[in-house]
Amino acid sequence: MDHLPIFLDVRGRKIIVDGGSSMAARRVERALQAGADVHVFAPALDGEFRTLRDHPNLTHHARAPELPDFVGAAVAYGASDDPVRDRALYEMADHNHVLANVADVTEYCDFITPSIIDRAPLVIAISSGGAAPVIARILRARIEAILPTAYGKLAAFSGRLRDRVMTKLKTPQARRAFWENTIDGPVADMFLAGDPKAAKKQFLKELDATALGQDVEKRGEVYLVGAGPGDPDLLTFRALHLMQRADVVLYDRLIGEGIINLVRRDAERIYVGKLPKQHTMEQGDISALMVKLAQSGKRVLRLKGGDPFIFGRGGEELETLAAANVPFQVIPGITAASGCASYAGIPLTHRDHAQSCVFVTAHGKDGVLSLDWETMVRPGQTVAIYMGRSALEFLMAEFIRRGVDPKTPAAIVDNGTRPNQQVITGDLTNLYARAAAANLPGPALVIVGSVVRLRDRLNWYNAIESDKHTMSLGAQVDL
Ligand code: SAH
Repeated sequence: MDHLPIFLDVRGRKIIVDGGSSMAARRVERALQAGADVHVFAPALDGEFRTLRDHPNLTHHARAPELPDFVGAAVAYGASDDPVRDRALYEMADHNHVLANVADVTEYCDFITPSIIDRAPLVIAISSGGAAPVIARILRARIEAILPTAYGKLAAFSGRLRDRVMTKLKTPQARRAFWENTIDGPVADMFLAGDPKAAKKQFLKELDATALGQDVEKRGEVYLVGAGPGDPDLLTFRALHLMQRADVVLYDRLIGEGIINLVRRDAERIYVGKLPKQHTMEQGDISALMVKLAQSGKRVLRLKGGDPFIFGRGGEELETLAAANVPFQVIPGITAASGCASYAGIPLTHRDHAQSCVFVTAHGKDGVLSLDWETMVRPGQTVAIYMGRSALEFLMAEFIRRGVDPKTPAAIVDNGTRPNQQVITGDLTNLYARAAAANLPGPALVIVGSVVRLRDRLNWYNAIESDKHTMSLGAQVDL
């Protein structure tokens, strides 16, 4: 290692920042966050300083720093963009034995500033020893993405309960085992799901049980998670966190391989999807299975394509869980209409075309079409039809029969957002024939409205592997 990693306590100590650049502003901001008494040397505090300049711990000097300024300082930052001034800063700091760092000038740096992930009190610092700051920054972005924002609060929450654990559990081994269980168990789940009260109650219950040498009662939970339309990059951070925590996952046909591979490796996988001419698991059976798994203490991940609350029967499954008193949380996902429209270059609304957009499904509870046609044929709107492929011919004809201009543009987006995405466009008169000729493998979303025309100019996504993937996903059904 070229550097000694330390976190410096600078509360109430003097820190010098020379310069009015945005780099200087960032140094000031961080020093203030750490509780330092910050002295800034710059002609004026404008731009990025505007939000910082009234801070009670900030003193502004409209001049260059001088030797006496360094007396008693802990750290000095140079960010003046003036080589002569930067050098003077380093020399004055050196003279006073103050640690200095001049931005981008290695020979004037006694220390380097790491990239940080701030979940205070939890802070992760990354350094590439100055060799490759870009790598450190990329790594930082990745860690930022996988670490829930509430983790810092969880650390603070644990910190507040440390004394109690100290009193109740006598040996360091017992304490460590206890912490490992709580920080990766229901207490953390409750806390990160936004219920600190329940988390504390559970914590104290587990602490008492552990102190008495009893087994802690296992408490399962269900995560109903929207996995988006297919591209794994469209998952939310929270979806990914819960996918990494699950003990068992229930998934169906809409979940592509790229997504299922992101579930924790040793989680049990249960396929509950529907394939043509095969036995399918009834909705009631799926809900009952989730209840059973959660009651045995498992963290159950129910992965749904798109958004669980949009034509996803998420509500129905949750009603069963609620009735059985199984705790659950719901994570939204990008719904097919949103994903397909974006990846097809078709804005769902546009001031020149559509002021509203309706999402409809062509499948009712008993498989019958019970569409609200009056709403669907209104002018100035876009209609996104889920599960519309098998009824496509009927749907297109019905729009025309109900008085919509037959030349109204329409599109069908098959396997939207995936590498094998196909988009067929046309109008109400010819979309069905074109789609039939393309023999689309599905799932597919139908979009009706003049916004479809914008695709000519806005299409940006080029599917890369046209036929390869269709085989693995290729069920010819709509549900
Ligand atoms: N809850 C899901 C919808 C489930 S209904 C969501 O919010 O997206 C299943 C229908 O969604 C399919 O028949 C199809 O119309 C649509 N769909 C889902 N994923 C799709 C995709 N990648 N491309 C096109 N349509 C999709």
